[in-house]
Amino acid sequence: MTSTLRFKPVNAKPFIAEVMARSGQNLVLCYQCRRCAGACSVGEETGYMTPDRLIRMIITGDRDQALDNALVWKCVSCYTCGARCPNGIQTGRITETLKKMAKEEHMAPREPTVAYFHDAFVHSALRWGRVNEMEFMALYELRNTVHHLREQKFGALYKEIKAQASLALNMTQLKRMHLTFLYVKGRSEIKRLNKKFRKKS
Ligand code: SF4
Ligand code: SF4
Repeated sequence: MTSTLRFKPVNAKPFIAEVMARSGQNLVLCYQCRRCAGACSVGEETGYMTPDRLIRMIITGDRDQALDNALVWKCVSCYTCGARCPNGIQTGRITETLKKMAKEEHMAPREPTVAYFHDAFVHSALRWGRVNEMEFMALYELRNTVHHLREQKFGALYKEIKAQASLALNMTQLKRMHLTFLYVKGRSEIKRLNKKFRKKS
């Protein structure tokens, strides 16, 4: 992916302020040394989009591109970039913030499967206090299936079902996936904390 930087001074100030406040990261400390770029775990997947370039997009007020790019959707929150950054900037927190902002603006996710995975994970964890693997897989696969059917991608749907069935079998054999219904005590407390967090963010 190649990208042209579009400096939008009017948009820049409020956008930087919002991302900084919500992510807790001091972006204006970034001096574009690119140490984070060489460390990014998903660099091969995201090509042009590296953490330093994402920060530059925010600083220049290019909201559209900052909310819709491969790094925002493919970042795995490993925090390697933050460990390498001389200014301690955690791009993983920034990508999470931008993903939330894109969702709030009802933007179509660039990577729908990542969005489905994320939604199913959060839904299950909030409901049961931990990820209930059966429910999580069912929710995720249901949305994936509907997506493929809508797009009429029958070959992709077949491949997906085959791959996931094989993965589920392997994980069950290795006792990494449980066929029982998993939950924890104190679920109301978790829901209360989530509600409180949502009000603040
Ligand atoms: S390592 Fe830190 S200062 Fe350097 S470009 Fe990346 S975010 Fe900016
Ligand atoms: S936290 Fe995200 S942006 Fe940073 S190194 Fe990991 S994958 Fe890359």
